[in-house]
Amino acid sequence: MNTQIIKIDKNNINHNEMTKLGKIIADGGLVAFPTETVYGLGANAFNDNACKNIYLAKGRPSDNPLIVHFADVESINDAVSEMNRDAKKLFDSFSPGPLTVILKKSEKISNTVTAGLDTVAVRIPSDIIARELIRASGVPIAAPSANLSGKPSPTTSRHVIADMCGRIDAIIDAQDCSVGVESTIIDMSGETPVILRPGGITYTQIKKILPDVIIDKHILNSIENNEHPKCPGMKYKHYAPDADVTVVEGEKDKVRKTIEKLLLQNTDKKCGVLTLGQASYKTATVINAGNNNKEYAKNLFRSLREFDENNVDIVFAEFIIEDEYSLTVKNRLYKSAGNKIIYV
Ligand code: AMP
Ligand code: MG
Repeated sequence: MNTQIIKIDKNNINHNEMTKLGKIIADGGLVAFPTETVYGLGANAFNDNACKNIYLAKGRPSDNPLIVHFADVESINDAVSEMNRDAKKLFDSFSPGPLTVILKKSEKISNTVTAGLDTVAVRIPSDIIARELIRASGVPIAAPSANLSGKPSPTTSRHVIADMCGRIDAIIDAQDCSVGVESTIIDMSGETPVILRPGGITYTQIKKILPDVIIDKHILNSIENNEHPKCPGMKYKHYAPDADVTVVEGEKDKVRKTIEKLLLQNTDKKCGVLTLGQASYKTATVINAGNNNKEYAKNLFRSLREFDENNVDIVFAEFIIEDEYSLTVKNRLYKSAGNKIIYV
């Protein structure tokens, strides 16, 4: 398939191009587009066949449902059977932005989008190009992250082009993502609000609005157990670069001493270290992911892909629990490492 790559400047949006891209979606095609979290792979959420093609293009397991994106709260009413008061409170507080809410679905949303569940995940992105695309298409847009299934999510258009060129109709080539990590998913379809995936909005922020919110135990206990997580996507291998990743978790001094030792034991391999703040590991390719876990979350996927571009064989990732974004980082990092974690 010939994939059109269309440059769009968010500060000077070409509305003719956006109209064409909107038409591709409305007519059942696939368009990758920027959001503030990661790049999405979009299709008309009311077109079952188009949504099936998302799974094909990504190689995504068919039991992993899609998030549906809207331009404003009012248009969500069409997709859900009921918008409850607390969900409305969440939208008023955090939308547009990196928050996805699970609600009971309406008849209009197909089983392909929800993978057979009776609930649907809805979100209003804040990215101006994303919202313009939704408006231009005239329909809600179902979109998972625009990476090949299992790979780190794309936070630049370059990543999307690497994974999706030849597989979809068009890619919007625009700015890098400002949040860099996926949305927080909160289930509002039951009695108690439950965070199913940590993300761009933290537990502390949500608790201020909904004091009874809890975190799904599968997130807190990231090592696999036998129960099925409520968020189907959480059970799959995820975010894995070609390089082998090991997380080293603990206090900073101990983490660094341990990684120095690991580097000495692996002199036959090309090693990389992902650090929290400046560090001077002499025998490794070092990428500083940022000075706190919010920056680490933003730079994590980009950094994992950069290690692959540098042909690194093995990555040691520093992980230090230090702030409210730790859970967001931990959730992705543990998965990228296939749960290979050294606690020090
Ligand atoms: P992605 O957009 O690639 O980050 O994937 C969307 C995430 O949302 C996956 O982890 C899905 O399992 C999750 N998700 C989508 N719809 C639902 C739903 N109705 N209930 C629970 N999780 C969902
Ligand atoms: Mg994804």
